[in-house]
Amino acid sequence: MGGIKENLRLVRERVARACERSNRSPDEIVIIGVTKTFDASVVKEAVEAGITHIGENYVQEARSKKEILGNIPVTWHMIGHLQSNKAKQAVQIFDWIHTLDRLSLAEKLNRLVSQQKDKPLPVLLQVKVGQEDTKSGIAPDELFRLYDEVSQMEGLQIRGLMTIPPYFENPEDVRPYFRQLADLLKRLKDRSDRPELLTELSMGMSHDFEVAIEEGATMIRVGTAIFGERPSCRR
Ligand SMILES: *Cc1c(COP(=O)(O)O)cnc(C)c1O
Repeated sequence: MGGIKENLRLVRERVARACERSNRSPDEIVIIGVTKTFDASVVKEAVEAGITHIGENYVQEARSKKEILGNIPVTWHMIGHLQSNKAKQAVQIFDWIHTLDRLSLAEKLNRLVSQQKDKPLPVLLQVKVGQEDTKSGIAPDELFRLYDEVSQMEGLQIRGLMTIPPYFENPEDVRPYFRQLADLLKRLKDRSDRPELLTELSMGMSHDFEVAIEEGATMIRVGTAIFGERPSCRR
């Protein structure tokens, strides 16, 4: 593996080629560098290499990195499962939450944002595509109800959908899941009073983001392809 800067260049090339194939502009794609289990110094290096969006999976870990890094110019994305008892810290730390998957969490976040912030928190609803019982996310047939409830909440602004599909060796096999998420977003827009807010599809990781882009991803979450193998796996 080359350094972060070289890896990022390669990822950007892959993004550009996927965009070409699908008649999209690379400007439509936000690359989120996923730094879970890496030190704060790695986040700093990533920012020096040109990364402006960072994804973290654990509230506590993100918090300690932010304490070390201070006002580093980064948009922080929560991409891991969010426990309700971490909601308060999450609201303080993150600019985006990708993993809103239940009403009770939405109610809690909404209350916290209303108390602490003067503008709504951008959130994505995490959808479980595929049948894996272990993955978090709301079932597709419950999505519209959750959307209707959360879209009433003044502290939260639903900006789109996120998914972690089942893992396949061959990225082509993931395509139907990405397509399903894109289709759900279309259907949400159709029923929404404010479809112009529903712009984001957070899908695609190191080994399958090209397919995700071809299917409409606007935010890709890339760890290994930029930072190399993770030093330890906490999952
Ligand atoms: C770890 C993680 C990623 C990054 O995975 P890579 O395969 O290393 O790119 C993306 N999304 C989520 C939700 C993750 O937990």
